[in-house]
Amino acid sequence: MFPWVEALKSVLPAVCFRDSDDDKASFGRDWTKHHEPAPSVVVLPGSVEEVQAVMRVAYEHEVAVVPSGGRTGLSGGAVAANGEIVLALDRMNQILDYNAIDRQVRVQAGVVTQALQEFAEQQGLFYPVDFASAGSSQIGGNIATNAGGIKVIRYGMTRQWVQGLKVVLADGRVIDANQGLYKNATGYDLRHLMIGSEGTLGVVVEAQIQLTSQPHDPQVVVLGVPSMAAVMEVMQAFRAQFELNAFEFFSKNALAALEEHRSITRPFETDSEYYVLLEMDKGEPEHADIFEERLMAVFETVMEAGLVEDGVISQSTQQAQDLWVLREGISESIAPKIPYKNDISVLPSKVPEMLKAVEEHVNKSYAGWEIVWFGHIGDGNLHLNILKPADMEKADFFKACHGVTHDISAIIKQLGGSVSAEHGVGLLKKEYLGYSRSEDEVQLMKLIKQAFDPKGIMNPGKVFDL
Ligand SMILES: Cc1cc2nc3c(=O)[nH]c(=O)nc-3n(C[C@H](O)[C@H](O)[C@H](O)COP(=O)(O)OP(=O)(O)OC[C@H]3O[C@@H](n4cnc5c(N)ncnc54)[C@H](O)[C@@H]3O)c2cc1C
Repeated sequence: MFPWVEALKSVLPAVCFRDSDDDKASFGRDWTKHHEPAPSVVVLPGSVEEVQAVMRVAYEHEVAVVPSGGRTGLSGGAVAANGEIVLALDRMNQILDYNAIDRQVRVQAGVVTQALQEFAEQQGLFYPVDFASAGSSQIGGNIATNAGGIKVIRYGMTRQWVQGLKVVLADGRVIDANQGLYKNATGYDLRHLMIGSEGTLGVVVEAQIQLTSQPHDPQVVVLGVPSMAAVMEVMQAFRAQFELNAFEFFSKNALAALEEHRSITRPFETDSEYYVLLEMDKGEPEHADIFEERLMAVFETVMEAGLVEDGVISQSTQQAQDLWVLREGISESIAPKIPYKNDISVLPSKVPEMLKAVEEHVNKSYAGWEIVWFGHIGDGNLHLNILKPADMEKADFFKACHGVTHDISAIIKQLGGSVSAEHGVGLLKKEYLGYSRSEDEVQLMKLIKQAFDPKGIMNPGKVFDL
C-alpha cells in the first residue's frame, strides 16, 4: 500500500474512504466508456475541511486527484485511469442557505442539478440551466464544465448564474471568489477562471447561484422540416415574433431511435427528414388570444413557404413535457448503439454553412455510417453522433472516428467555431484543442495551470498535457 493511503486514512473518517473494485470502477469514469477506470482509491469528503485535508495529503505526496461530480460528463474529464485519488463530491449535497432579497442560493458542490431546479421552484423562482442529465449531474460538475443545455438561447450557460465560488486549491488553501457580489471591480475574476476549468485548477466545494423569475406558461412547438437549410429560416421566422426559450433540432433517425427505445408514438403522422422544437412563453392569460393569433400566423407563413411540413403545438403542461421527451430522450436512446460524439459550434449566423459543409463531408467520406444529428441549434451548437457499425470492433471504430473529428474540426476552424461547444475537452477532445485555440492561448492556459497547480496534481492529462 502507498504511504499516502495511510496518511489519507488518518485525516478522514472511515465513511469517506472507499477502495473496493466496484467503487473504483463506478467512481473512476464518466458517461464515456472509452477508458478503463483504474484509480487507487475513492474519497467522499463531507465538508470543506475534509476536502482540504485530502488535498494537503495529495500535495505533500504529489498524488494526482480527479474531482468527480455526477459522472455524466461526455469528454472523459472525470476519468481516473492512472492510479489517481478520485475525490467525489456526492456527500456534499446540501443547500446551505437562501437569501430572498438577493435571490441567491448557496449550495455545496455535490447538489444535483435537478434538486437546485426544484428548490428554485419552491421559492417561486427559476434556475434555468437544464439538460437531459440534470437528474444526475451535480452543480460542481456543471460549473467545472460550464454546462449549457436546452435554454441557453434565452438564459445563457452555467457561467451566467454563478455569483460566487468557494474553491479548495491544490495545496489545500481555500479561496472565496466574488462572494456573490453583483459588482466587484477588484482585479481578475478568479471565479470565471474556475468555471469551465474541468477540475484542473481546484476543487469547487460551494457555489452561490443566482435564481431568476419563472417563465410565463411555456408553450412547446414541434415542426417537421424538409431540409437542414430550412432549419435556421424557421428559427428566424419565429424569432421575429417571439422571444425563444429554446430552439432545438433532431434528425429523422434520432426520432426513430427514441420511438424504438421508449416505445412512444410520434405526435404527428408526416415523416420529415428533420425536426425542430421551439419553446416560448405564452405570457399572462389576458394575452393568450394575441399569442395564439401570432403563433398561427407564423405557422402558416412557414408552411406556405415550404419550410415546414407538419407540426404540433402543446395544449397543456403535460403535452409540453411529452414533446420535450422527443428531444431530451435522444442521447439515452442512442447510447446502446455506441455513438462517437462531436459537440461543435459556430455563430448562429454561420449554422447553415456549418450544416452544409459537415453534412456534405460526412456523406462523401463516411458513406454507409449511420449519423444521428441533434443539438441546441439555436445556439449554433450541433451534436453529431456517429453510430458504431455492428460488425466493427469498438477500438477500430473509435480510431476511425478520430479521422472524422480531425476533418470536421478543420471545417469548424475555418468557420471560427469551437470543437467542444459545451461538453468540455477532457481526454477525448484534447488532441483537437488547437483547432479552436491558438498556440499563444494554450501557452497562457498552461501558465495559469502552473500558477494554481505547481505540482500538476489537479486532474492531470485533461484539457492539455503539460
Ligand atoms: C444524456 C446526457 C445529456 C447531456 N446533455 C448536456 C447538455 O445539453 N449540455 C451540457 O452542457 N452537457 C450535457 N451533458 C454532459 C454533462 O451532463 C455535463 O457536462 C455536466 O455538467 C457534467 O456534470 P457532472 O456533475 O456529471 O460532472 P462529471 O462528469 O462528474 O465531471 C465533469 C468534469 O468536471 C470536473 N468536476 C466535477 N465536479 C467538480 C468539482 N466539484 N470541482 C472541480 N471539478 C469538478 C471533473 O473532474 C470533470 O473534469 C449531457 C450528458 C448526458 C449523459
